[in-house]
Amino acid sequence: MSATPVKTIGVIGGGQLGRMFALDAKRMGYDVITLDPQERSPTGQVADEQIVAAYDDMAAIEELGRRSDVVTYEFENVAIASVEHLEKLGHRVCPSSSVLRVTQDRILEKRFVRDCGIPTAMFEAIESAGDLARAAETVGFPAVLKTVRGGYDGKGQWRVGSIEEAEAALAAAKGAALIFERFVPFERELSVVATRSASDDVVTYPAVENEHDAGILAMTLAPARVADAVCERAQAMAATIGRRLGIVGTYCVEFFLAAGDELLVNEIAPRPHNSGHFSIDVTPCSQYEQHVRAICDLPLSPPRMLSNAIMMNVLGDGRGDHLAGIPELLSDSSIELHLYGKRHAVARRKMGHFTMLVDGPIDDAAIARARTALKKLGWE
Ligand code: AMP
Repeated sequence: MSATPVKTIGVIGGGQLGRMFALDAKRMGYDVITLDPQERSPTGQVADEQIVAAYDDMAAIEELGRRSDVVTYEFENVAIASVEHLEKLGHRVCPSSSVLRVTQDRILEKRFVRDCGIPTAMFEAIESAGDLARAAETVGFPAVLKTVRGGYDGKGQWRVGSIEEAEAALAAAKGAALIFERFVPFERELSVVATRSASDDVVTYPAVENEHDAGILAMTLAPARVADAVCERAQAMAATIGRRLGIVGTYCVEFFLAAGDELLVNEIAPRPHNSGHFSIDVTPCSQYEQHVRAICDLPLSPPRMLSNAIMMNVLGDGRGDHLAGIPELLSDSSIELHLYGKRHAVARRKMGHFTMLVDGPIDDAAIARARTALKKLGWE
């Protein structure tokens, strides 16, 4: 643990998660330097400074380390070599490279989760075509084949129903190592955002419910429409995972809720998460502030929900870069809009989100109201 009080925080990655983190870090009086190859990145626009360089440019990474009292990152596929390099030079990086080594490898990640005594979908590692028959035998179909490394937002994934389809997916993966996972006929997808401090305190937000559209998060219901006991079990599992991995910072554990209220962990993201955006608007201490607190050795704040909420992602559709309909959206005073300062609304790109505060339980009417609100927005 660093003995010097933190003044400057370095952030590898300049996306929206870094931006929302930097906004909270600035409010709390810290200087923020980000490193991103794209000038005026979403984080760079609100940080004190941006180093414009590739993520694996070691000279630039070293400069970030030299000028920061602690370094963090805002996407989980950050090069482990960059993080290890900083650690070797004696810089503090949160979470550490040992966390990334597990979470960047779907096989190691699932084995780790099982070692914690927490269930996952059945899986087998696929390194060559010869492994497919064995996996088909032990895991069965339907299945999902995923690249072991580098996948995000549903990229590098194939749903397969037969050995022929699995062979086609293997060919499409072009030699990348794969995981063969049993397809889980889940009732809901849940996630728990949590934060762990260096002194092993862990705080967890209530479990939320996520709806994806072709692999990209579309909507989060906070809290999830599940029994309290399920929510508490998911929170306890997330806390165990954070402790056993030794994460310092905010992280997210994603779950499938299967028949009989069985919870299976799908993956761990060692960073603030899209499904935790609601915490900005409906909790006194957001997931980003918790991350600042954890990496700067400040006390964590046990989450309190001041309101229920629905978060809707605002994606680009390639039709234009101007977002029309904002006045109409904001005529509903229960809605808070967050835009990420990205210039081009490329199709499926995460451009922003809004949080709709919900009085009372989250029911079909509230969800319908959020979907109608999203339709007021359009790119032109
Ligand atoms: P992932 O990249 O693992 O988060 O997967 C993206 C999305 O694909 C998940 O949020 C699920 O909707 C779906 N998915 C992934 N793995 C499975 C599985 N084993 N069974 C059912 N759906 C899955």
